[in-house]
Amino acid sequence: MNLALTRVAVVGAAGRMGREVCRAALEDEFFELAGGVVEPEAPELGADLGELCGYDKADVAATADPPDKAEALIEFTAPEATVEHLLYGRPVVIGTTGLSEEQLARVEEAAKSVPVVLAPNMSVGVSLIREVVRELAEKLGADYDVEIVEAHHRHKVDAPSGTALLLARAAAEGRGRDLGEVAVYGREGRAPRSEGEIGIHALRGGAVVGEHRVVFYAESEEVEIAHRALSRRTFAAGALRAASFVAGAGPGLYTMRDVLG
Ligand code: NAD
Repeated sequence: MNLALTRVAVVGAAGRMGREVCRAALEDEFFELAGGVVEPEAPELGADLGELCGYDKADVAATADPPDKAEALIEFTAPEATVEHLLYGRPVVIGTTGLSEEQLARVEEAAKSVPVVLAPNMSVGVSLIREVVRELAEKLGADYDVEIVEAHHRHKVDAPSGTALLLARAAAEGRGRDLGEVAVYGREGRAPRSEGEIGIHALRGGAVVGEHRVVFYAESEEVEIAHRALSRRTFAAGALRAASFVAGAGPGLYTMRDVLG
């Protein structure tokens, strides 16, 4: 990890995650909050970023574009905005989820000329259980039925979560299968389970920051891996770690696995 000071700009600074990343950057001596981008028509345009995130004045204003001095952008917005911001051509950490295949292809294209970390879940814990899920799927084998259940707050727009898809992909990978062939999203009506199916289910409500359960069901035992994010700070801390990595990386598409080494 690069331990020198990293100057970051938060894109989507007025959002739930954006404000949390601003707070985390203001508290961390290894980062300078160099800027924050909000929508051009947003009431927050011109606001002080410290005050915007509930802290003391930081003397850094929210702007419509990131300042030149930012070494890394941290993006938590919406898929359409994220692909538009690729035009900045700057090192970027993308936390936004719900990108379509076409939007992901645009990210891959951009990563040919700038470093991009694409991480649907920035928490260290999720990065590690991803590996555990892959290994369990491989070693337990096809006799175990895999089901994934996730829960998020009522405002989340994409479903299932990017993290549920990441974990489902890990399980499919462990079994040498393509997720597209085995994924079943929710069940309704006559829906018997077919062999090798990976069921994915989304709950939405209240203020849940993010919960994921991966269950391997067999006739005589059940193995369950669970992750609960208790605060958005876990994602913000991971985003800063990724920003420090991306600021010093060459062009390419990276994941949290690369960031964490
Ligand atoms: P939010 O709705 O609170 O915030 C999104 C912000 O982006 C809003 O303030 C909106 O005004 C802003 N925005 C939209 N278009 C913009 C543009 N063109 N320029 C600047 N700002 C723009 O949502 P949130 O809860 O902060 O989540 C944001 C994204 O991050 C979602 O896709 C969510 O799933 C994802 N997320 C990822 C992780 C992770 O670890 N990777 C963790 C939590 C959330």
